[in-house]
Amino acid sequence: MAEIDKPRREVDVPGDWTYASAPESRDIVHIRDRYGYYVGGEWLEPAETYETISPRDEEPLAAVGQATAEDVGRAVAAARTAYADGWSSLPGSERAKYLFRIARILQERSREFAVLESLNGGKPIKESRDVDLPLAAAHFFYYAGWADKLEYAFPNRRPRPVGVAGQIIPWNFPLLMLAWKVAPALACGNTVVLKPAETTPLSALLFCDVLRQAELPDGVVNIVTGDGRTGAALVESEDVDKIAFTGSTEVGKEIQRRLAGTGKRLTLELGGKAANIVFDDAALDQAVEGIVNGIYFNQGHVCCAGSRLFVQESIYEPLVAKLERRLTTLRVGDPLDKNSDVGAINSAAQLEKIRELVASGVEEGAEIYQPPCVLPEKGYWFVPTVFTNVAQSYRIAQEEIFGPVLSVLTFRTPEEAVEKANNTPYGLSAGVWTEKGSRILWMAQRLRAGVVWANTFNRFDPGSPFGGYKESGFGREGGRHGLEPYLEFDE
Ligand code: NDP
Repeated sequence: MAEIDKPRREVDVPGDWTYASAPESRDIVHIRDRYGYYVGGEWLEPAETYETISPRDEEPLAAVGQATAEDVGRAVAAARTAYADGWSSLPGSERAKYLFRIARILQERSREFAVLESLNGGKPIKESRDVDLPLAAAHFFYYAGWADKLEYAFPNRRPRPVGVAGQIIPWNFPLLMLAWKVAPALACGNTVVLKPAETTPLSALLFCDVLRQAELPDGVVNIVTGDGRTGAALVESEDVDKIAFTGSTEVGKEIQRRLAGTGKRLTLELGGKAANIVFDDAALDQAVEGIVNGIYFNQGHVCCAGSRLFVQESIYEPLVAKLERRLTTLRVGDPLDKNSDVGAINSAAQLEKIRELVASGVEEGAEIYQPPCVLPEKGYWFVPTVFTNVAQSYRIAQEEIFGPVLSVLTFRTPEEAVEKANNTPYGLSAGVWTEKGSRILWMAQRLRAGVVWANTFNRFDPGSPFGGYKESGFGREGGRHGLEPYLEFDE
């Protein structure tokens, strides 16, 4: 049709494309006023409680127990009894049935869990709904599949369970970290005492209801809440055979010191300062999406976040320009709004830490970019931030910020990229963006990181092992490797 013949539009084309808010209803979740500890299939009344809040507006959500060493002792005793009373000797095919049930119930109740996770932790509902919940269910499905195949996973090594596992998890992926820890432990025939993080206990407490629905035998999974003192009591508990910890490097080192010489097994999943490396032949728009996902996903509260961006010098300017333009389109706001891309910072303490490190970046001479952004008045918020003109020695290039803050550095050759990327005490993850497959393999062989993503970032799958080198810890979670920390072998 000739240009002239096209019918003229009578309808006004909107000029303003800002999103209207689309809040997810919180009515689906029932939060109790007060929670105790889930021990031996029963709720124990706590002597002392603290308040857990929502970081989006500081609204108090519930009173939660602060477990003492005695409470922890009771939970460990319940786990020991359940271990000896049959869970450890149950055929793998029977254990699998419970795990399959838990996975299915998580799927059925996923909206409820997603709302609770966003409410208590501050992450955008689209992430808890589309990432945390599907992955948590997938972990239970995946390890359910291994429960009756351990002999084949480790042929001629006669695998058997370790015993009672003490598991301590952080606040950035509360339910997902629970799934990463509980699913392989149960698949291998262990029983569990789990301590969620102080600021995000609610999804673990709701998970107790899933255990009840799945009719998991009493005492196989026990949940105690509280702050670091509760975690320390679990580490020190005499009758625990294995500790699995995810959290800061500092606390991880402390736990390792405490366990030295005790014979208890230990796995540590600690911090990171991942390099995300973009070569000049990469598809820039895709890379920008990957960079944004790498650092602003979950407000940057991600141990494997791509917090150090290395850009090949020849594309530095166009890439930074595209990145800054993309930042202006990120929607920061109510975690329960389905349109929010970036939610609330998890706690006042974490916000303070982010602010302090960002101030150090400015002071040391880096150039800061923050898009125009109206933040809610109440709650804990931080604008997505990019630092350019960063030297490797700056604190923002060395220390884990654990917030929505990216440091951009440059390189010229692949060798230089590897050297700079590995110049960190951490070694959890890395990303490489290039069209050349051979270069991806060359880089992956040289990067000292547990996971190397190519032309993508922050991809997780229960079948793929995850874990670190150096100060990022040791031991793997996920995949067949994730079974090993929960097994002894008669060799
Ligand atoms: P922590 O390492 O203190 O917390 C992780 C878990 O360990 C929580 O359940 C915590 O309880 C518990 N814990 C704290 N102290 C002890 C102890 N002495 N013995 C046993 N368990 C303990 O991390 P933070 O929450 O303080 O965060 C600090 C920094 O750690 C972040 O800024 C970030 O850099 C990093 N981090 C890394 C994570 C990762 O995934 N690699 C996850 C979380 C944090 P409680 O919550 O009650 O303090």
